[in-house]
Amino acid sequence: MAISSGRRVLTMGKIAVEDSVKDERAEITARARQLGFTDVGITPARLDARARARLREFVAERQHGTMDWFSRRLEERLEPRALWSSARTAIVMAVAYTPEGEVREQLTKELADKSGVIVAHYARGSDYHDIIKKRLKLFARWLCAHYGTEAKVFVDTAALSEKALALGSGIGWQGKNTQLVSRRHGCWLFLGVVLSSRLFASNLAVADSCGSCSRCLDVCPTNAFPRPYALDASRCISYLTIEHRGVIPRVFRVAIGNRVFGCDDCLVVCPWNKFARTARDLDEELGEKLSEKLSEQSVNAGDNSIEQSSRMSDYFSPRARLESARIGDWLRMDEEGFRELFRGSAIKRLKLSGLRRNLLIAAGNSGDASLLASVEEALGDKDEVVRASAVWAYWRLAERDIFCERAELSLRVEASEVVREEWLAGLGSEPSYVQS
Ligand code: SF4
Ligand code: SF4
Repeated sequence: MAISSGRRVLTMGKIAVEDSVKDERAEITARARQLGFTDVGITPARLDARARARLREFVAERQHGTMDWFSRRLEERLEPRALWSSARTAIVMAVAYTPEGEVREQLTKELADKSGVIVAHYARGSDYHDIIKKRLKLFARWLCAHYGTEAKVFVDTAALSEKALALGSGIGWQGKNTQLVSRRHGCWLFLGVVLSSRLFASNLAVADSCGSCSRCLDVCPTNAFPRPYALDASRCISYLTIEHRGVIPRVFRVAIGNRVFGCDDCLVVCPWNKFARTARDLDEELGEKLSEKLSEQSVNAGDNSIEQSSRMSDYFSPRARLESARIGDWLRMDEEGFRELFRGSAIKRLKLSGLRRNLLIAAGNSGDASLLASVEEALGDKDEVVRASAVWAYWRLAERDIFCERAELSLRVEASEVVREEWLAGLGSEPSYVQS
């Protein structure tokens, strides 16, 4: 009798705890959805052994290329508490930026239009960092007030491994392309994290559902995957066109094609994207609830500038002037035009010189002789990386004897070793200059 009564008490106690965990999760999820986040996951503020091993391997094999900032702060990447010692839970927020329409067909067309530019989808709208951070702050204020915790927010700017935490939080699994893949939302996801000093019950991690698929590995133009689930970033077009400073190694230039900011190829092909709803559809579902909640919270936070629009999709839809942009138009852009066109865009990080470097590689791949005048002008650019890239584009587009004539003239006055080397390589054997 006593035992059975004890069991009943124990069972009822367990049910009560389970209910309160469910309530907590439901409240957190509801609040995150009201703020426009697509999905939310909860995990302890630490990386599991597998994620830690992956990060160590990435750095040990120098797959981070010239991103020395990545290896310098490896300990913090491995241990979130090295960033904030009070952190106990990571609440991971995902925002879907799933593009509209037939994205694969669209990419095929964009690649075929060799005088047009291709920008990765995540950068076609407004810079997600600012937008998501403001909403994470609203969420964190609510979390602190509601649960009496302290909290800090992160969006890809500190040495926090957001993706590794997302894998533990149940939002998705790590695909063979190393991206987070969600069964419901595919792989077009921005991530942000709220670290909390309170211990919340965690979600279960999601099982790998890549199966025998290898589409992302097969499609990569630069063979950047040494094996499934491992990315050699130093070979990846996203790294080469965005993170890498200096001249882009010759071996990758042809493969880059007309991608001037990032690459989406290994995302576009993922079959799980077919289950993803577009960012606009997800906003539609929230409707008025979202704008009411945002304005109420903005007023409570005393910040009238938090949002101009309540809909995430308004920020991430492609800017009209980025669609159907031409290499020639962008090569003619000056500093002022660059600032104006890319205000509030992630592309501004590249600076005009970085964009011109990429545009010249695209020009060299275009086969479009009408770009020769802009390329010739870039041969006199004040930036040696731009000049060196212009030499390659010139070599690809100009008649051989005209190239040689110009090379001899330029070599008499060119002081930069980087640029001289490009001219000399161009004067050397033709096939090796393209690929060597
Ligand atoms: S982003 Fe492009 S280059 Fe980089 S791994 Fe994916 S397919 Fe390869
Ligand atoms: S394309 Fe295939 S292998 Fe690659 S992440 Fe998607 S499901 Fe996995």
